Amino acid sequence: MSETYDFLFKFLVIGSAGTGKSCLLHQFIETKFKQDSNHTIGVEFGSRVVNVGGKTVKLQIWDTAGQERFSRETYNALTNWLTDTRTLASPNIVIILCGNKKDLDADREVTFLEASRFAQENDLMFLETSALTGENVEEAFLKTARTILNKIESGELDPERMGSGIQYGDASLRQQRQHRGSTAQTKQQCNC
Ligand code: GDP
Ligand code: MG
Repeated sequence: MSETYDFLFKFLVIGSAGTGKSCLLHQFIETKFKQDSNHTIGVEFGSRVVNVGGKTVKLQIWDTAGQERFSRETYNALTNWLTDTRTLASPNIVIILCGNKKDLDADREVTFLEASRFAQENDLMFLETSALTGENVEEAFLKTARTILNKIESGELDPERMGSGIQYGDASLRQQRQHRGSTAQTKQQCNC
């Protein structure tokens, strides 16, 4: 059966190694925790079709390999990740910051407030997630998709712009063709 969707959004999961990027991807795609997560080599990806705001959206998620860093350093490295992302991708890219391993609250090194402030100052959405329990994982991906969709609807993001990371899916294209077809027909019938 061929897949039908209105939009395709490309998501990149980036951050320091060991923060749980691959596990977040697995939790979202398969709704289970990947116990024996190996180091990601290069890039791996998965996809899932979701429903947001009445539209069918295919999320194509790219999971990348990061450098080896641990604990609070992963938070300190955020500024570099952000600079790279905004420079290499597009300045109006939609970014969500996930503070993962929420289940390990006793070992917390960054407070919710501190990370929230950072997110606010850097124009990011923010959620604390756990790839282990699944808490907020679905929400993180869906919230991002919803924000992108809103920006398409308001004209801030254009799926037809090359390299935007968003595309019309086959369902939207068919609808546009039908719309163009009916406009052409109306014109033909019109004698003005
Ligand atoms: P990546 O390098 O960012 O892709 O990190 P991985 O997804 O490979 O995860 C690194 C380690 O953290 C693995 O041992 C995972 O089992 C563990 N891990 C990932 N997410 C969570 C989480 O939400 N909670 C806990 N407790 N451990 C996690
Ligand atoms: Mg990985």
